[in-house]
Order: sequence, then C-alpha cells, then structure tokens
Amino acid sequence: MIRITDILDRISAYNSEADLELVERAYVYSARIHEGQVRLSGEPYLSHPLEVAGLLTELQLDPVSVAAGLLHDTLEDTKATTEDLTRLFGEPVTHIVKGVTKLSGLAFRSSEARQAESIRKMILAMADDIRVILIKLCDRLHNMRTLQFQTEKKQINIAQETLDIYAPLASRLGIHWIKTELEDIAFMYLFPEPYREIANQVAKKKDEQQEYINTIREIIEAKMAEANLPCKVQGRHKNFYGIYQKMINQDVDFEEVYDILAFRIILDTIPQCYQAIGIIHSIWKPIPKRFKDFIGIPKPNMYQSLHSTVIGPFGERVEIQIRTREMNHVARDGIAAHWQYKEKSGFDQKTGAAFAWLRKLVEDQKDIKDPDEFMESVRIELFPDEVYVFSPRGDVLAFPKGATPVDFAYAIHTEVGYQCTGAKVDGRMVPLKYELKTGQRVEIITSPNHRPSKDWLNFVKTAKARSRLRQFVKAEERKLSLALGREMCDKVLRKYHVSLNKYLASGEIEKAVHELGYKTADDLIASVGYGKVTPQQVARYLLPRAEIEDEKETVVTRLKQRIRGRKAKSGILVRGLDDILVRFGNCCNPLPGDPVVGYITRGQGITVHRTSCVHALSMDSERRIELEWAPETEESYPVRIHVLCHDRMGLLANITAAISQGDANILDASVSTRTDKRADCYFTISVSGADHLENVIKSVKKIRHVITASRLAA
Ligand code: MN
Repeated sequence: MIRITDILDRISAYNSEADLELVERAYVYSARIHEGQVRLSGEPYLSHPLEVAGLLTELQLDPVSVAAGLLHDTLEDTKATTEDLTRLFGEPVTHIVKGVTKLSGLAFRSSEARQAESIRKMILAMADDIRVILIKLCDRLHNMRTLQFQTEKKQINIAQETLDIYAPLASRLGIHWIKTELEDIAFMYLFPEPYREIANQVAKKKDEQQEYINTIREIIEAKMAEANLPCKVQGRHKNFYGIYQKMINQDVDFEEVYDILAFRIILDTIPQCYQAIGIIHSIWKPIPKRFKDFIGIPKPNMYQSLHSTVIGPFGERVEIQIRTREMNHVARDGIAAHWQYKEKSGFDQKTGAAFAWLRKLVEDQKDIKDPDEFMESVRIELFPDEVYVFSPRGDVLAFPKGATPVDFAYAIHTEVGYQCTGAKVDGRMVPLKYELKTGQRVEIITSPNHRPSKDWLNFVKTAKARSRLRQFVKAEERKLSLALGREMCDKVLRKYHVSLNKYLASGEIEKAVHELGYKTADDLIASVGYGKVTPQQVARYLLPRAEIEDEKETVVTRLKQRIRGRKAKSGILVRGLDDILVRFGNCCNPLPGDPVVGYITRGQGITVHRTSCVHALSMDSERRIELEWAPETEESYPVRIHVLCHDRMGLLANITAAISQGDANILDASVSTRTDKRADCYFTISVSGADHLENVIKSVKKIRHVITASRLAA
C-alpha cells in the first residue's frame, strides 16, 4: 500500500509550490470517515483512495485533484455530505468529488438508450471538469488491479465495461499507459486462454528478445552519436491485448505479428527528430507507406511522433517511433500532460484545439433529443477507427475503418458473403472494395450460384470475412489439386494398364500413402496435384519395381524440376493458390513481366502462356486461370531471339559479345545464310524478364549491319 508521505513527496517533486496541506487534510479526513470499512481484499478501505491518489500523482496532477482522489468515495460510501466537504476542502474539491460520485452511479451494461444516457453524463462531467474523468480512470484502474477479489460474474461485467468504455476513453484522452493496462487486465479476465498463451509466448522469448533489443539499441545509439544527436533509445513490447488484436484483425499467429517489439528514440528538438528518421532510413530500408508524420499532423488526441517500419539487420520488421521528450510526455499522459500546464496559464490554445471535439460534443448534445443519435455521435468521437452502417432493416453494424461491402456481407451471414455479387450503398451501386462510411445504408446483392473471388482477400478488413475466404480458397485449392493429382496418377498408371481406381478400391493405395508419409489417399493424391510428390513416386509403391521406367529427362521435366526447386523464391504466382505444379508453354516462352495466363491441363498441372499466345487465345475459358509473376524473381528464363543481319566477318562475334555484356547467357545459337548476303541468326538466351530481354535486344540492334532483332514466339 502506498503511503501518504510517498504521495506528498511525489507532488513536491513535480510542483514545489503545491498546497500539500490540502492533501494532508484530505487524507486525515478520508482515513477517519472510512474507518472500519474493509475492501473485499480484506485491506482497510483507505487503501483504495490512497492508491487512486497515488495514480493521480503519476499523472502529475494538482493538489486539488489528488485531494479529490483521496475523498472520491466519501459521498457515496460514508456519512459525509457535500456541505461537510465544501466546508472543509472548498468548492473545487467538492465539485469534483460530486462529479465522480455521479459517474459511479452510471451503469454502462444496460440497454442502448441507458448506455447513451450514461455516456452523455460522462461527457458532460468531463467537459465540466476534465479532472473528474481522470479520477474516474484512476479509480477504475485500481479496481481492475484488484479485480481478483470480486465474484466471477462481476469480474466479467466490470472487465467488459472497461474494455467497452474506459479503455477507449483513456485512449481518446491520449493517456496511453492507463489505456494499455486497462486493456490487458480486461483481456485477462475476458479471454483467459489467449491471454495466457500470449503471456507464455512473450515470457518464453524474453531473454532472446532482451538480447535483440540491446543489439538494436546499440546500433541506433552508435549511429546517432556519429551524427552528434544525443538520444535515449527504448525497446518495448506491444501490450498483450494489442498483440491479440493484431492476431485477430490480421488473422495471423503470434509468430507472424511482426511488430511485437517497437523502438522509441527520444531526442531534444523537432529538427533532431527529422534528422534521426533520415539516419534510420539510411541504415535500414523503410517499408513503403509505413512512414507516418504525426509531428507535422498530430493525432486528434494531440499525440505527436514520427513512425516508420523498417527492415532491420536480420531481415525482420522493426517499428520505430521518434519524438521529443515533451511529445513523449504527452504520448504517455495525454490530456493530463496538458492539464499540468493549465495550472499556470489556463488551458493553452493547443490543448483547447485538441479537445475541441469534447466541447463540440457537449454543445451538440444539447440539441440531440434522441439517445440513439447522441450515441452515434459519441461513438464516432470515441472510436474514430470504427464505422457504423445500417442494414436494410435498420440494424446498426460496427466495422473497423476501411471495411467493405464484402465485410458487411460476411457479417450478415457466411452464405451471404459467399454469394455476394454486388452492393448498393444508399441505393447506389458501388464496387465490392468500396470503403464504407458511418451512417451509410448497405444492401448486398447475392446470387445463389456465385462464388467468392480470392482477390477479395486483398481488401477485406474483418477477421470473419478473411477467415471464411481463406477456408474457401483452401477448399478450392484442395479440390483442384485432388482432381489434378488424380489425372496425373492415372496417366502414369495407364501406361502399365492399370487404373488408380483399382488401387483405391482394393486399398492397395494405402501402402503408398503410408510409405510417403500421408494420412489418407486423398492427401497423397492432392499432394501430387500440388507438385509435392510425382505420380512416378506413387506408381513406384504400387507396381513391381522393374516395371517402372524412369521419367524421361526432357526439357519440360528439367524445367518442371527447376520450378519445383525454386518455388519459395520466385516464379509464377497462381493467384490465391500456393504450390500448384506449373510449367511454361514451349510455344511462347513467357518471361517475367509478360502478361500471362494459365491453362489447367489434364494431368500436367498448370501451363503458363503469354496472353498473346495462340494457345492462350483458343483456351477453354473453364480451364483458364489468372496468374501473376512473383515479385523480385532471381531466376533466368530461356527465350529465343532472331537477328537478321548483313553477312559480314566478325558480326556474329559482335552480337554474342553484346548479348553477354547485357548479362544474358547464350544457351544455343545457329546461323543460316541467305542467298542475298544476309544472315538469319537464332539465339536461345536466358534472361531474368521482359525488361532484361528488351535491353539485350536494344543493344544488339545498335550493332552496325544488324537489320532487325526480335523475340521469337517459339
Ligand atoms: Mn473508488
């Protein structure tokens, strides 16, 4: 239990002229009037107001606030009256205690209308004197810290209310440390299992992470010292609830939440901050679109900082925040930091502007009679990262900012999501990736035979839509590979006049299933379709060994093997489907950068053609599949080029030199001379992509006596 002397010491440390006597008297009175009362923990009741007062000193609040904190439960729980308080401690203290007492009577778990009323009162109290809310937040924080003494039912209710109302409120007021602690404790009671799991994971990695933090810190400090920038570097965890939210929102495992650790660099001046971000970006590559300048454009709660995510020394993502000492103070204490200045000079202009939303809300509420409507405006203010839209029946649904009609469709029902073909917003047709805005009325158009598109994964925002879509894609992927695998196995087996069905029916397939390490025949066949197992491997377990002739080493099989070998690194991406066996059409030799399309062949996986290839044009649309190139391929691809030139001595040498200077390898060359003293040269060269090829052709064309140079379709 914190002692009153500690509280007094803290106050005089941040405010040497503070009226400590007021705080002391409040303490003595509180101790006397709560005498004999005990908390559920068995501790004397006084421990609670004392802890609350202690928390208020962490926010560095004035003596009036701290005194009010010590007295905050006297009106509600003791025989003390407002007259007593006014007489003993004056009007300001009494006014605040009254405000806190009024708030305590609010129940937020009730129906929507009563909730609106409660929040309305809370906002009013807040606008009346922000210290009322600050005390209420500290009161809630201490109650959360001691929640274990409550009944289970109360634990759940209080934790839910904290997560719904108090944590967002702390966040909106910019008091980061209170927000994160409230969230984490509520998280522990509401979702004990994921909480434990995350806590364990974090604990398990503690040593490793500490070592990592030290390494990064040393690098940053050394670089900043070189540039003469004195700074403080802190490495820290994201809070557990923050990690959990990331896992839920992005539908990823703990291991995949990259920015669990974040680094903060604290400097003296704003120019130093910008200088520092320049240094960081010069040592570690920034991830595009992740740089945010909240110094130039502060958040609505006055938060200021530079944010960037970079690729760290081990290829990992690192979140970096850069700010001044003062900004760091505001980032921690939010509105309370501004309050501290108010004492001297009145609410400064900056703060006034920052919390204009609060004033506006109070002014607005005077005219709003409908509690739902009021609730709506509060929600927009309190939860700026959410949007609220209406269903055609008038139900309100909440979504994360950026949500689309597809998210809406899945929220209504999974089937609606699957069958969603279009959407109307306020009566007008919109694209499926349209960003919903608060207040809009959304209507989903469905068609019973429609199937979702894998592309939707690129824009959906809710976990439900994402996970349902993933399930769908996985099932599709499996169906496709099962069909492919079946055809591929059958084709090989037919050579020996047996059919896959025979082995399936007799159960003989089980031997291959077991030997190759699969659980079921379907699993095995699907992995043939995925290209993980060859049909020859399967056949080897089914047929007498002598019968199997080795797969002929053809250009195609070599290519196939190459593709299999480098799948993780590069090559072609079958949109949404991983790991499908692909090969390149010999007809058109597609290169990275070429527009391509895939053809689902019988028994050979997917063949890739250039979209301009005659085969692509004549393809059965049922078997067409959209493809794209994986970014940053390091592979080289064979391509044929034709060079028409005058037949002169040494020209061939010039051409081959130009090709190899262009970093392309010559795999094959042939020359034929025409009767008119011209020559046709054919080269097969390997290039990294279409751009590379174009450069090579350009430099060949520059050679004297070369008439034309071009890529060959085959
Ligand atoms: Mn209390």
